[in-house]
Amino acid sequence: MSSLGAWGVSLDEYTLDQFLFVGPRGGGDYYRVAIFAGIHGDETAGVLAAVRFLQELARRPELARGYEVYLYPLCNPTGYEDGTRHSRSGRDLNREFWLGSREPEVQLLEQQIRTLRFDGMISLHADCDSPGLYAFALGAQVTQYVVEPALAAAEKIVPRNLDARIDNFTARNGLIRKGYPGMLCAAPEARPRPFEIVFETPQLAEPDLQVEANLVFLRHALEQYQQLQAIGQDL
Ligand SMILES: [Zn+2]
Repeated sequence: MSSLGAWGVSLDEYTLDQFLFVGPRGGGDYYRVAIFAGIHGDETAGVLAAVRFLQELARRPELARGYEVYLYPLCNPTGYEDGTRHSRSGRDLNREFWLGSREPEVQLLEQQIRTLRFDGMISLHADCDSPGLYAFALGAQVTQYVVEPALAAAEKIVPRNLDARIDNFTARNGLIRKGYPGMLCAAPEARPRPFEIVFETPQLAEPDLQVEANLVFLRHALEQYQQLQAIGQDL
């Protein structure tokens, strides 16, 4: 574990922590994947899931074969402490990325994202207006071969949101094929673009089930991406 930096809010000091788990060597170069949780402080299932996933990797390193997994389990520590979506400064941190934000959480994460140049980024969220699971995903291949099967596995735990519109976006089978300005994502100059996935659980569902759905989603997403790369190399 390493701390990316610390900042003070009145008399309290907060840190943004990063965990790195290097899996056993796969067939080729390591894929560098980041998992972010808790950028909205009141969405606790993702935070618990990220911590549980780290513990699981320690027990079953095989899950991360061929991966360097960077975990950021708590991206908004003041919001988490206060039980609020926003950070204590009153900002929605997930609308501040790559827009010259002065929020320390955003600046620290931007620095890491720019330096580490991830091959993939997965953000864990929960949505209080959604009756089921859904995901934002960019890139046709990743959507079809990674996100769809991972959603299919997770919906055995918590149902999928099949609405035609979710969160004011056009959706199909719980998939939204776009992002929005200021969301936590790769640096604007990043080429090639990494795969970017935002996974959302229904915040009103049983907390344990949401955590489990996150874990199932993460396991499957890593496995499917690995397979997609292996197939790509054979073509
Ligand atoms: Zn959220």
